Parts: sequence; structure tokens; C-alpha cells
Amino acid sequence: MTVGLSDEQEDLRRTVRQIMEGRVRAHAAEIDAAGEFPQFVRELFAEHHVFATVAPPEFGGLDGSLLTLAVVCEEITRVCANSGMILGNQSLGIGPIVLFGTDEQKAAYLPKLASGEWLCSFALSEPEAGSDAASVQTRARRDGDCWVLSGRKNFITQANVADVMTVFARTDSRDGGVLTAFLLAREEADWIVERVEHKMGLRGSPTCAVVLNDVRVPESALLGELGAGLHIALTTLDKGRIMTAALALGIAQGALELAVAYARERAQFGRSIADFQAIQFMLADMETEIVAARALVWTAAARYDQGDREIIKLSAATKLFATEMVNRVTSTALQVLGGYGYIVDYGAERRVRDARVFAIFEGTNEIQRLVIARELLRARG
Ligand SMILES: Cc1cc2nc3c(=O)[nH]c(=O)nc-3n(C[C@H](O)[C@H](O)[C@H](O)COP(=O)(O)OP(=O)(O)OC[C@H]3O[C@@H](n4cnc5c(N)ncnc54)[C@H](O)[C@@H]3O)c2cc1C
Repeated sequence: MTVGLSDEQEDLRRTVRQIMEGRVRAHAAEIDAAGEFPQFVRELFAEHHVFATVAPPEFGGLDGSLLTLAVVCEEITRVCANSGMILGNQSLGIGPIVLFGTDEQKAAYLPKLASGEWLCSFALSEPEAGSDAASVQTRARRDGDCWVLSGRKNFITQANVADVMTVFARTDSRDGGVLTAFLLAREEADWIVERVEHKMGLRGSPTCAVVLNDVRVPESALLGELGAGLHIALTTLDKGRIMTAALALGIAQGALELAVAYARERAQFGRSIADFQAIQFMLADMETEIVAARALVWTAAARYDQGDREIIKLSAATKLFATEMVNRVTSTALQVLGGYGYIVDYGAERRVRDARVFAIFEGTNEIQRLVIARELLRARG
């Protein structure tokens, strides 16, 4: 399968590159240093309809294509990983509504999320439920015609700035449930952000510990069927993992460009370090890995867009390869810069720090290997 971009996708790629180069690049280091959510980037994305890439066209979205979203994600993180997390998290948070929402829920939420008027979060992880997502302890109990949610959610990206949050909670089996998804709107459901974590990287992307203290929501907050929560979460992540791989790809591309520019400038032993074959081989290996990851991301995204049923394995493999690649490539880029790579002002160490978590979130890479092996061994003939 060969995948190319349409003229519209190429145009969008150029537009996003211009926005990122012209309006964000000069602030990428400040965003990391400040460790706060970059509100101006959110406004910029809303102004230029970047959020439209996460929603279907009938609800204010662009073309609803994961390939389009992947191309845009790469362009954003090439310059600023924290900015990429804003769009990536919007895509993850909107996923359950796009895939499982009722017509009323879609009409109420999607246009505001597609325009960037609202932000959303995806709340699955808990202090005791990480890789083992099925062991979620947050409870939802019926009370009259309402549901009451209580529990703790951990590591929830942007919960402190979100207007909407999908919460996965345990419902009583006598209600026909086990894990069920609920759609919480900030204006009617009060979740408490107990703490914003202090992190190694992605410091401008808030990671929140959330408390749900008898949060009462109407019946209409139920998202999908009772007991379908795990299926909703995992199906959303099948798409999310390809998008995460695209974010990782952009960080790697940005690191490579930094290393190439530095290698051209830096002289030692009376020659440009770019003349040393050791440096050339590092750059060549980085480029090769990036090209391979891009081919994988585009193929997986295009297959997702075509409704490929084999996507679980391909999605996990794409996430695994691209997120391990970005750790190798950012580390090699830092090496090309020598001691300056270790100095904050040069931007290489930020990319190493930002890249690290990609092998952990959206399912650790150990879990991706388990998924790939399970799918391989299940297949017959
Ligand atoms: C910055 C950041 C943002 C995040 N954003 C969100 C978010 O928005 N929403 C959300 O719901 N979650 C979010 N997460 C949570 C993330 O998805 C989890 O951290 C991840 O799933 C791993 O869970 P854990 O941290 O509890 O690790 P654990 O599951 O405790 O894993 C610890 C180690 O054991 C390994 N391990 C676990 N089980 C197995 C197994 N069966 N076989 C082999 N190895 C295993 C893991 O791979 C890992 O190396 C975020 C996390 C971070 C760090």
C-alpha cells in the first residue's frame, strides 16, 4: 500500500508549519521553562481551525481523517511538543464521543470541541489502575434518575483546563455494567484537580490528579452502553496510538533538523564536524529511522481511515516503533551537539525529556508488545 498526501493535506501541512514557525517556535523553550499550559497556543489553534482536524465534517470538523490529523500532529511537535499535546489530547478526549456518542451528545459536544471553544480530557488511569485498565475502582452508582461518581483519576492530561471529560467508572453488575463511560461537562459536574504533577518533560502539558467526590450527573451522561466502558476505552486507544506515534515522529524530525544545523555550524580540528563520518552516520541513521516511522504512521492512519479490521496490531506496532525511535533519535541528536546538547539553551535536552514519556503513555511499550503478540498468536492459518 502506498500512501501519499492529497493537495489539501499538503496545503494544510504548509499552513500549520507557517503557524508553528512564525508564532510558536520562539516560545517553545519558554513554554517548557514556565511549566504551564500555553493558553496562547490553544487560542492560535482555535483561530486557525486546527482543532477541526479531530472531528468529523458534519459536526464542524475538517475531513475526519486520521492521516490528516497525523500530518498536522507531526508539524506541531516538530517545533513544540507541548503544543502537540493540546491537539493530541483533544483527539483522545473527543474519540469516545465520535465513536460511541448518541446523536444528541455529538450535536451538543462535537462542534464546540472542533472549534476549540471547549477542551476535553480522557480519564481512564487511576492510582491503582494503569496498565491494568480493567481494574478501575472509581464507582458510579444510580440514584433516582442520576448517576453519582466517586473515586480518583491519575495522570489526566489537561483536566485542569478541560470543559468536558470522559470518565471510566465501575458500575454495579446488577445494572448490567462493569466498566462504563460517562461524559462529564464542567458546567454541570464538579471534578476536583487535587494536584498538577511536576514532570521530567512535556512540562507545558498539565498532568492532573483528579478527585470525583460524589459527582452527580444525569442519565444522559452515559456514553455508550452500560458495561461497554473497556471496549470504548480500548477502541479509542487504537486510534490514539497512531496519533501518539505521529506526535513522536514530529519530535524526532525536529531533533534531526537541530542536529543537522548544528553539525554544519560546529568546527573542530579545523573542520566542520559534519565532515566526520561518525557524525554523518549518526545523521543518516536518524533520517532512516524517521523515514521508516513516517511510512508506518501514514500507512496505519490511512488503513484506519479505510476501516481496516486489523488495526489493533498495526496501531500497537506503529506506537511501539515510533516511540522507541523518538527516544533513540533525540538522544543521538543530543550527542551530535556534544556538551551543548546538555545545555538547556540549545533545545536538544528538551526534546530528550519530552520524548521519554511516549514509551509510557497510551499504554506502555511492554503492553504494546503484549497486544502485538496476542494478535499474532490468535490469528489462524
Ligand atoms: C504525562 C502523562 C500523561 C498521561 N495522560 C493520561 C490521560 O490523559 N488519561 C489517562 O487515562 N492516563 C494518562 N496517563 C497514564 C498512562 O496511560 C499510564 O501511566 C500508563 O498506562 C502506565 O500505567 P502506570 O503508570 O500505572 O504503570 P504500571 O501499569 O504500574 O506499569 C509499571 C511497569 O510495569 C510494566 N507492566 C505492567 N503490566 C505489565 C504486564 N502485564 N506485562 C509486562 N509489563 C507490565 C509496565 O510496562 C511498566 O514498565 C498519562 C501518563 C503520563 C506519564
